[in-house]
Amino acid sequence: MGDYLTLLAGELQRSIAGRVLLEEPLSRHTTFRIGGPADLLALPTNREDIEACISFSREKGLPFYILGNGSNLLVREKGVRGLVIKTTGLSRLEVKDANIWAEAGVLLARVLSKAQKAGLSGLEFAAGIPATLGGATVMNAGTPAGSMEDVVARVEVLDKEGRFVIADGSQLGFGYRESRIKGSGQVVVAVLLALKPGHPEEIDRLIAQRLALRKKKQPLAWPNAGCIFKNPPGYAAGWLIEQVGAKGWSRGDAEVSTIHANFIINRGRATASDVLGLIERVREEVFKRFGIYLDLEIEIWGEGP
Ligand SMILES: Cc1cc2nc3c(=O)[nH]c(=O)nc-3n(C[C@H](O)[C@H](O)[C@H](O)COP(=O)(O)OP(=O)(O)OC[C@H]3O[C@@H](n4cnc5c(N)ncnc54)[C@H](O)[C@@H]3O)c2cc1C
Repeated sequence: MGDYLTLLAGELQRSIAGRVLLEEPLSRHTTFRIGGPADLLALPTNREDIEACISFSREKGLPFYILGNGSNLLVREKGVRGLVIKTTGLSRLEVKDANIWAEAGVLLARVLSKAQKAGLSGLEFAAGIPATLGGATVMNAGTPAGSMEDVVARVEVLDKEGRFVIADGSQLGFGYRESRIKGSGQVVVAVLLALKPGHPEEIDRLIAQRLALRKKKQPLAWPNAGCIFKNPPGYAAGWLIEQVGAKGWSRGDAEVSTIHANFIINRGRATASDVLGLIERVREEVFKRFGIYLDLEIEIWGEGP
C-alpha cells in the first residue's frame, strides 16, 4: 500500500503546481490539533490544481475531501483514506465597489480586514471565526448577529462533473450551519460578497468588540473546534450541557471547557476517541435530563478509533 501511495503521490505531484504530501498527519491541519494521517494531502495553489486533483481522484477511484482551515473537524486517529485537498493556497482577493471577491482559501480574518480598510460593512459578525471563506460559506457560519447567507451574493463552484459553474447565494439552500454544497461533492472555488458602505472606525470598533467578547466567553487558549453541538430549537446547547454539570468533565486530555460548555478543549494530547467519549457522555446526560438529543455541529472524518 505504501509503495502504491508513493506512486500516486508522484503522479499527482507531476500534474499540479502545489505540493502533494504523503501520509500527512491531519493534526497539523485542524484547529483541534487532533487527527491521523491523510493518505495524500494536496495543497493546490490555483483552480487548475483543484480541477486536476478532482479528476485524478475520479480516475484513480480515490475518495476526496475538501479541507479549509480545519476549524470544524474532528479527525479520527487512523486518519483518512484517499485524497484531502486543502484550499488555503487559493488566496486571491479583490475589492470592487461594495463587493469583495475572494478565492475559497482566504481566511475570513483577511477578508474582514480588507473590508474594514475599504469601509465596507456587513461581515463584522464573522470577527473571530477561524474559517476560510469557502468553509464559512459551505457551513453558513455565523453568530446571532449574522451569517454568511446575509453577505454571499454569488459563488463559483467546481461541480461533480468537473465544470466551473456560478450560482447565486439564493440558490445555495442556506440553513442553520447548512448549505446545499455541504457534503455534495462540489467545491467552492471563489465567493463574491455584497457588503455596504460604512465607516472604517465604526467597523473597527465592532470587530474589536466582538473579538473581546469571544476572548471572554470562549476557551481560546487551548486547541478546539468551536461549538461541538448545534443549538436545538429553543435552547442553547451550552446551557443544556451546563445544567447537567458537565463543565470540567474530562477524558484523557480532552475536557469540556469550564468557560463555555459547548466547547471541548485539547489540553495537549487528546485523541479523537477521548473527544468522542466525552461527546457521548454529554449527549447521554442531556438526553436523560431534557429528552433532547444533541446533533453535532462539528464533522467527524476518518477511521477509528
Ligand atoms: C475558536 C472557534 C470559534 C468558532 N466560532 C464559530 C462561530 O461563531 N460560528 C460558526 O458558524 N462557526 C464557528 N466555528 C466553527 C468553524 O470555524 C466554522 O464551521 C467554519 O465555517 C469552518 O471553516 P473551515 O474553513 O475551517 O472549514 P473546515 O473545518 O476545513 O471544513 C468544514 C466543512 O466545509 C467543507 N469545505 C471547506 N471548504 C470547502 C470548499 N471550498 N468547498 C466545499 N466544501 C468545503 C469541508 O469539506 C467540511 O465539510 C468556530 C471554530 C473555532 C475553532
